[in-house]
Amino acid sequence: MMTAKEYEASLRKLKLKVYMFGKRIENVVDDPIIRPSMNAVALTYGLAQNSDYKHIMTATSHLTGKTINRFCHIHQSTEDLVKKTDMGRLMGSMTGACFQRCVGMDALNALSITTFDMDVQYGTEYNKRFLKYLEYVQEKDLTCDGAMTDPKGDRSLAPHQQPDRDMYLHVVREDENGIVVRGAKAHQTGAVNSHEIIVMPTVSMREADRDFALSFALPSDSEGIVYIMGRQSCDTRKLEKGRIDCGNSFFGGHEALVVFDNVFVPWNRVFMYKEYEFAGRLVEQFASYHRQSYACKSGVGDVLIGAAQTIAEFNGVAKASHIRDKIIEMTHLNETLYAGSVACACKGEKQPCGTFLVHPLLANVCKQNVTRLPFEIARLAQDIAGGLMVTLPSDEDFNSPEVGAWLDKYFKGHASVSTRDRRRILRLIENICLGTAAVGYLTESMHGAGSPQAQRIMIARQSDIGKKQALAKKLCGITGKSKV
Ligand code: SF4
Ligand code: FE
Repeated sequence: MMTAKEYEASLRKLKLKVYMFGKRIENVVDDPIIRPSMNAVALTYGLAQNSDYKHIMTATSHLTGKTINRFCHIHQSTEDLVKKTDMGRLMGSMTGACFQRCVGMDALNALSITTFDMDVQYGTEYNKRFLKYLEYVQEKDLTCDGAMTDPKGDRSLAPHQQPDRDMYLHVVREDENGIVVRGAKAHQTGAVNSHEIIVMPTVSMREADRDFALSFALPSDSEGIVYIMGRQSCDTRKLEKGRIDCGNSFFGGHEALVVFDNVFVPWNRVFMYKEYEFAGRLVEQFASYHRQSYACKSGVGDVLIGAAQTIAEFNGVAKASHIRDKIIEMTHLNETLYAGSVACACKGEKQPCGTFLVHPLLANVCKQNVTRLPFEIARLAQDIAGGLMVTLPSDEDFNSPEVGAWLDKYFKGHASVSTRDRRRILRLIENICLGTAAVGYLTESMHGAGSPQAQRIMIARQSDIGKKQALAKKLCGITGKSKV
């Protein structure tokens, strides 16, 4: 396994083509806006070397028997799945941000299932290729970016109907060496902190969409791949002198648009090629895994609840009964998020290939809760914090010889607490609810791993409503088939 330092060094060797604010970024690792997101991924390496966390952060490879980072592991039991949930919560609580590496883990696990099932149906050799690739990823301890979301253009049209075919990533040509692909993947979490990019289709497909039913993996700095960084609320605070206004200057996340401008993929890295019947299944399996991964938000919730309690103490209101009740409510909501992720892990089942898949219905219920409860937790945190969270003057003003003393005097809370520490905790709450980390805590909770409606479709499909009706009818004595 790599150490955090080795991970950072490995990123320096990549020749990524990254753009931000209209300019090419030459030194991605040290860029002050990107750096906190790199630190968050680096912690997935750091904690795996730490004896206190090894039992969660590492696993035994089912391919080689070696100890590997859990982010590269294929789940072999429900215990593995529960540990994955706990790893997400742990990482979220240590970073207060999105640590990005789950997307690749979920892509690897989903592909372990789909490649096997495709081979059974078509006599192909995708699973063999995939396992070879997996061994390479595990051996080198790589971070993979799982790339699913196509830009999608006009949402009412299937991939092949789009006026611009590039709205869905597709094959342009093939020869005996491999394929050439074109298109883009949007909102790619952790893209420029990854060694590899694993592409999957984003929707179910019919025969006319064959050219879009693709899955493959490439080194992230392959010729023709271009990254354009998404910006976040308050991102340029990271360029300022003072660090307090960042709220959390250590960790963060990032998303990027990844453009594939006629990129070559060798055959040994192609894991699905025009098997359109399996596109939907791969999407569903990946989505189920990734919906479980949102235990990360209960970890960020731990930080926010801790911050809310702290500002209540700093303001001298911690003993008020309504504040206590709000902290209890935040805790209840946060544990509900965690419970959903644990439940779908415990109820996971072994697939024909040997991989354990989470319970799909419970995973979708878990993520549906994630689209709502963090917003309520954030609302309560802002209620407790008070308006000062967004009316505080800048760090520079506090350091000003002319007005700094007034600010220090008038923004004092409890006598035992410095105004500086009061500012720190307020800025952290601002960061999670409204700043750079709000992308990860709130918007990603809403849209990451699929927007709320995507889960509702899956919940409807799996709810077995007919069985529920039969139960009700039996109890009240309705017999025979109704005509409605
Ligand atoms: Fe992982 Fe959560 Fe970030 Fe998704 S939002 S990549 S599950 S930390
Ligand atoms: Fe996500």
